[in-house]
Amino acid sequence: MPEIKTRIEKIYAQVIQRNPGESEFHQAVKEVVDTLAPVLHKHPEYAEHKIIERICEPERQIIFRVPWQDDRGEVQINRGFRVGFNSALGPYKGGLRFHPSVYLGIIKFLGFEQIFKNAVTGMPIGGAKGGADFDPKGRSDAEVMRFCQSFMTELYRHLGEFTDVPAGDIGVGAREIGYLFGQYKRITNRYESGVITGKSPKWGGALVRKEATGYGAVFFAEQMLKARGDSLDGKTCVVSGSGNVAIYAIEKLQALGARVVACSDSDGVIHHARGLDLPLIKQLKEVERRRIRDYAQVHRDAQYLERGNLWHIACQVALPGATQNELDEASARRLVANGCIAVSEGANMPTTPGGIRVFEEAGVAFGPGKAANAGGVATSALEMQQNASRDAWTFEYSEQRLQEIMINIHRTCHETAAEFGSPGNYIIGANIVGFRRVADAMLAFGVI
Ligand code: GLU
Repeated sequence: MPEIKTRIEKIYAQVIQRNPGESEFHQAVKEVVDTLAPVLHKHPEYAEHKIIERICEPERQIIFRVPWQDDRGEVQINRGFRVGFNSALGPYKGGLRFHPSVYLGIIKFLGFEQIFKNAVTGMPIGGAKGGADFDPKGRSDAEVMRFCQSFMTELYRHLGEFTDVPAGDIGVGAREIGYLFGQYKRITNRYESGVITGKSPKWGGALVRKEATGYGAVFFAEQMLKARGDSLDGKTCVVSGSGNVAIYAIEKLQALGARVVACSDSDGVIHHARGLDLPLIKQLKEVERRRIRDYAQVHRDAQYLERGNLWHIACQVALPGATQNELDEASARRLVANGCIAVSEGANMPTTPGGIRVFEEAGVAFGPGKAANAGGVATSALEMQQNASRDAWTFEYSEQRLQEIMINIHRTCHETAAEFGSPGNYIIGANIVGFRRVADAMLAFGVI
């Protein structure tokens, strides 16, 4: 396959050249295209029709000014983004991220990942991502509302339940989704529930959407362990982050008999050897929007490590649930040395390429975000289904659907990895499953 490898290298070189300075996007593309040689070998028609080249070029990229006034009356200017990356399988679908680190390269990496993740779920959704370099930290509710209203005043014209359906991501939760939907409804004169997901169940949202990414990543970990004749019961776990993904990952890990001893935020790490007090974390983070350091004021036997490295805490199962590139090669080595046997990515691209290599060499069961955290967006698709049929499912039924979806994702990734000669490699499995589904739809549509 040397000519195929050369072809892929050329495509990657072109991506770097056409998208200068967007290192996260380059990384996300490399992670996918490096696994596709055996697929092109089996399906020369994908190469002939330049499917990879087309997938690497977003269908549309929208960049806009977001002006708003803070509580002191000062005018603030942020930059908003929405990248509709691929709509072969359905309307653009993917979250919005509000974080100061956001620039086009971050949105493109996330949008690119979303294409494959969404395809892996088997649901009819394309891939997209958006957001702004707005920092919600320390902002009042009124400021967040004004920002969201200004953001939606431009974005609304690009959305629609059959066109593009955003949701949350870092910095965008139920509060922001409420302000965004309110402004959309007002401008368009339409109560179009299916235009955004992650809504509150009080006004059109789906039960389990809030829990879905965290629960899903744990279901995926459970399946990886089961495939090796093991389980989560009695395992010591660490979960990075303390946002929506981390909180509900901790909840499900505890429910399945694991002991979660650490979590974190961007300031530091909480280590509580006898197991984390989840109701306290929810109170601090979801209700009071405080920092995780305050946990140690309540539990004197817990340790707060300012700027500490969570991956230095010994565990058998690690769940990176914070942000991209948070788990590097040195941290991966430490985890392996401390006896880690499974990693399930709750965040998007949290493990660096060096970290992944360490896990692969050590035979750690590694669930990449495209598979392991797909439960969030899959449940968004369930929310769209409920909105379309004006129905609302119970918590139990919705969770059962989520679990079935995760079991399915695990099975198809596992089988596909074996089919392509890399048994147990979920990265290869997820990339190929996602790529083939998108590629086949693109072939059917001709050159568009
Ligand atoms: N932002 C989430 C993700 O990374 C969810 C996207 C959605 O529900 O549309 O998959």
